[in-house]
Amino acid sequence: MSWFSLFMVWFAVVVGAVFASEIPIPFDEKTKVLLGRIGPPSKKVIQEFEQAGMKGIRYHEVTDAERAKIGAALASLPDLHQRILFEHLDRLSFLDGMPGEGTALTAPSGNVGSYSITLRASIIDESLSDFLTAKERRLFSAVKDGPEVTVTAEGQNALPFILLHESTHIVDNSFGIRRGLSHPLIVQIWKGSHDLKEPYSSSLVASTGFRGQSKIPVDHAQSIYDVMEKSPFVSLYSTAAASEDIAELVAWYQEGQYFNAGVVIEISTAQGKTIKRYKPLEFPRVVERYEAVKKLLSMPSSAMAKSD
Ligand SMILES: [Zn+2]
Repeated sequence: MSWFSLFMVWFAVVVGAVFASEIPIPFDEKTKVLLGRIGPPSKKVIQEFEQAGMKGIRYHEVTDAERAKIGAALASLPDLHQRILFEHLDRLSFLDGMPGEGTALTAPSGNVGSYSITLRASIIDESLSDFLTAKERRLFSAVKDGPEVTVTAEGQNALPFILLHESTHIVDNSFGIRRGLSHPLIVQIWKGSHDLKEPYSSSLVASTGFRGQSKIPVDHAQSIYDVMEKSPFVSLYSTAAASEDIAELVAWYQEGQYFNAGVVIEISTAQGKTIKRYKPLEFPRVVERYEAVKKLLSMPSSAMAKSD
């Protein structure tokens, strides 16, 4: 090879590398449109957070690197969710200064049938394991030398999960799933938007902070997850409301199907020795509900309820 040819190869490699680093990830048109809806939240949304006690919140302007992560998360959503967001999402906002407990708000926006989604900005760089573990641990109070609860979803990021969960709320509203209470996803479990049917309403799974109860000593955690293992709930947060049950089930189903996430809730000793592990995506009563989730995900947009 001549010096000139070598130079040309070197030139092509260097120019190619520089060029590649500057080319944004090629998102499809729908994702690009959704990325264009990132911006500051409305005054009403800010007020809602402030009324919930979050005084120090401020708008977070996303960086290019963050925008790429958000684009990848949006592009990973099921087709139904992408269509619903395309048609119904007015604004996607990220905020700094939100405490860990407040992660997301999906709210109707000014335009009829439209919604805004507002998220804690630090979620963009959070792992799903950290997000879920923190959420779960808030339910329990520490006990001296007591066990610990940890949730792992190895290799998964929190952002796609949160976007899945939040956009499922918009899917739910658009299709009127929980309104009629007769949808196969909820008919056997919920008698009202926040009222569980028996045996769930008096079950241990419904005894947590997610249903307004006080913290539970962590050495009682195992008895709760033992009951959850036989229940139709994929997470304890599912028991918070019919809408959360649907959002959690769809989000978890998709995590399992699309990301192949093996989610594990583990109870371990203070020294880190495993006491018991639970795999919610494989709970038999949860698996029974997947058929209805699949059906929902294959719905055409034309099936949307008119009342929203
Ligand atoms: Zn929710």
